[in-house]
Amino acid sequence: MQIPVNAKSHSYEVLIGSGILRSACESLKDKIEKADKLVVFTDENVWQAQQNYFVENFPYPFEVFVMPGGEACKSFKNFEDAHTFLIEKHCSRKSLVFAFGGGAVGDLTGFAAATFMRGIPYIQIPTTILAHDSAVGGKTAINHPLGKNLVGAFYQPEAVIYDINFLESLPSKEIRSGMAEVIKHALISDETWLKELLQTPSITNIEKKLLAKHLKSGIEVKANIVAQDETEHSVRKFLNFGHTYGHAIEAAAGYGGLAHGEAVMIGMVYALILSERYGNISREFTKEFLKFAYNNNYPFKEVFKYTFDDLYEYMLKDKKMEYGKLKFVLLQEIGKPYVKEIDELECREVDRELRHLLE
Ligand code: NAD
Ligand code: ZN
Repeated sequence: MQIPVNAKSHSYEVLIGSGILRSACESLKDKIEKADKLVVFTDENVWQAQQNYFVENFPYPFEVFVMPGGEACKSFKNFEDAHTFLIEKHCSRKSLVFAFGGGAVGDLTGFAAATFMRGIPYIQIPTTILAHDSAVGGKTAINHPLGKNLVGAFYQPEAVIYDINFLESLPSKEIRSGMAEVIKHALISDETWLKELLQTPSITNIEKKLLAKHLKSGIEVKANIVAQDETEHSVRKFLNFGHTYGHAIEAAAGYGGLAHGEAVMIGMVYALILSERYGNISREFTKEFLKFAYNNNYPFKEVFKYTFDDLYEYMLKDKKMEYGKLKFVLLQEIGKPYVKEIDELECREVDRELRHLLE
């Protein structure tokens, strides 16, 4: 299955399916075989879990750079190590890098590719559910000690190869995290699809074919938005639904304490309560959504570890601040997002309502 991503700067395809690594590489032969060297960037967990399948199905010789697992690979130190590796392996402008891993590996690899010799091509091979989101759209970044994703570039990949087989070794915390972004894509685009997702008995146990269908729909929503607004001046902001409060919780917990999507799920409930005040989202719907999230073990108790003031401080540091004002993505109704400026008092009230609902 192929999904085109027609970003302004560069168009490419997302190839998605079960067991497609080999056939996808064959269909991308022209791009791959013109490279003078192939380098795979991955992290230690992914490599340990998926090395055998990768080596069996990747039809070319390659060099591999194995990085620290998860978020740790997005450090300046690892960014430098990645460049050192490329230099020591005599890579050139004609070399091609593969990002084989979750969103963290994808972000680091994309930024290393964007900056090595002023830019070499890269291909995303995502291995998490969350990466159905992060691998598409060309946002690349590493973390600064003062904040996450503060150093990066928009840099689109040559292609995305999404082989669902890689998801088999994913821990349930990471499945839960990734499914939150799938649900976000449904909330901002399509009520029927959302209802279908909310009827899933267990989000960490979705049958493979159905999962592939949801992931494809998520990628289509993202691709459609990126085609309209590659560099986040308008509709791409909608993808931040749930992320203002979510990022605050994620930051307060210390990155790595909560998986990104787990925090975003909490942020989405907050954004729904806020949306009730201005549009056609009912309290009944918010409660139904919360019940679903509760039943699927999203870690709402985390909220009670922090005061509103703790969280508000993090919200103010978020990149979505413009001219000192906090802007939230809200829903007019399901599938109809918009951006609204919200003042501190109202943020505080909604935080109180959320805590009340969670008690
Ligand atoms: P991740 O890459 O940190 O992966 C989560 C954990 O699962 C890690 O420990 C990883 O080693 C492990 N893992 C990955 N695939 C596995 C597999 N198949 N089997 C076993 N273990 C596996 O996290 P993520 O949730 O995929 O991505 C989060 C990152 O993505 C964050 O850094 C976030 O900032 C970034 N992100 C980027 C964008 C974007 O548009 N670029 C969008 C959303 C998030
Ligand atoms: Zn996100």
